[in-house]
Amino acid sequence: MMDQILPFSRNPFKKSFKELPEYNPVMPLVLYNTLNRQKEIFHPISPSEVKLYTCGPTVYDFAHIGNFRTYLFEDILRRWLASKYNVIQVMNITDVDDKTIRRSKEKGIPLHEYTHDYINFFFEDLLSLKIEPAEYYPRATDHIQEMVQIIQDLLEKKIAYQGEDKSIYYDVSKFPEYGKLAHIEVKELKSGARVSHDEYDKEEASDFALWKAWDKEDGNVFWETSLGKGRPGWHIECSAMSMKYLGHHFDIHTGGVDNIFPHHQNEIAQSEAHTGEKFVNYWLHAEHLIVEGKKMSKSLGNFYTVRDILKKGFSPLALRYFYVSSHYRSKLNFTLQGLQGAESSVHRIRDFILRLKSAHGASYPELPEVLNKAYQEFKEGMDDDLNTPRATAAVHESINHLNTPLEEKSISREQAQEVIQFFLHADKILGLNLDEILKESHIPQEIQKLISERESARKNKDYRKADEIRKALQEKHFIIEDTPSGPRVKRIESIS
Ligand SMILES: [Zn+2]
Repeated sequence: MMDQILPFSRNPFKKSFKELPEYNPVMPLVLYNTLNRQKEIFHPISPSEVKLYTCGPTVYDFAHIGNFRTYLFEDILRRWLASKYNVIQVMNITDVDDKTIRRSKEKGIPLHEYTHDYINFFFEDLLSLKIEPAEYYPRATDHIQEMVQIIQDLLEKKIAYQGEDKSIYYDVSKFPEYGKLAHIEVKELKSGARVSHDEYDKEEASDFALWKAWDKEDGNVFWETSLGKGRPGWHIECSAMSMKYLGHHFDIHTGGVDNIFPHHQNEIAQSEAHTGEKFVNYWLHAEHLIVEGKKMSKSLGNFYTVRDILKKGFSPLALRYFYVSSHYRSKLNFTLQGLQGAESSVHRIRDFILRLKSAHGASYPELPEVLNKAYQEFKEGMDDDLNTPRATAAVHESINHLNTPLEEKSISREQAQEVIQFFLHADKILGLNLDEILKESHIPQEIQKLISERESARKNKDYRKADEIRKALQEKHFIIEDTPSGPRVKRIESIS
């Protein structure tokens, strides 16, 4: 039930970065830890394995492009960690909370059926953006018992109490470190005030619900447990599921910045009060995505799901590249023009790879230096708190540098293979399917025949025939460009 694995194969690249020469062995992986508000050298608890918990979707609607900014950041993190360690990643599915219950009631569909569809849509979107699958996708409704046990323990420790509404609340005054992650002082909190809903602002901070006693608003969504008839609060779901799969104390926990408070703060309070151990070593958070400089909202008409973007004719890889090329801790301003730019960059990289494949020139003396620099910049960028703008710049700089020698046939076949290897390494992070393009890129016989017919027509100055053949090629989805070094053929492809 809990370990739903996506139906695509994991990228078989785990060892590839390890095989790289150590250009700068003193440079360790550094990550920005929200807990201490600084970049810190990453030391996993176990030397060869990283345990990673990523807050997953609340499946009441399609996830929007802001949500996917966070999931994409987590994918980059996962991929880079996997180049060094074995990674165990858990992403929960919140299939019961205030929002899922409200929506399923509005639609008149039983909760389980309602969330089932949105879980599937979520997995489809992950696939289209080439997000690598986590090891576990536990669902909240499959882990009610684990949640009840933690709450029971917190009641026994007198850290939780039952309110007059029969719901069970966490008493934040009993947890001295409450507020540390979000940098708010407990004394600023309203003493004795309580919130029962899942999401609230810092200004409202106060005791929060662990277990919500059933009321008629919840309809037929309830569990009969030792805590009474009701359902869990959102925050306890993540404490229970993370500790079940990763243990009491694990390496990294991530989410969007809006998860810092109250969600992640509450997770720390629940988990640490329950186990008496430190919960998580590194907390990483992705910044917001805004649209055309404004907060994304349905009322402003600037609200997009991944599907809305694809319907506009953009490829999912353009969207992926758009996310990758910005740093996860800067606000990302989404514009259609920016996305167009990302689409062009993807084409540029893919086109370059295809041209490399047919290179057979002289040897280029500067190549080792160019490649060394590219590898080093890429690796150092990624190790510096996943600085993907720097890493992608290394890719584009190598294209800038090698374009002319490639054009002038001064890169040998062997050298071109070395450059391709660099691109394939970079693609472990970029995720642009470069290996697939290399496989697909051979020019069919029929097309080759047309090309040479066109070349002879041109030599005989029969430009009309040459033009007809060009049109025929276009109909077969190939464009031909005449360059000083001869004709170059490109497949017109949709880059999905
Ligand atoms: Zn969570």
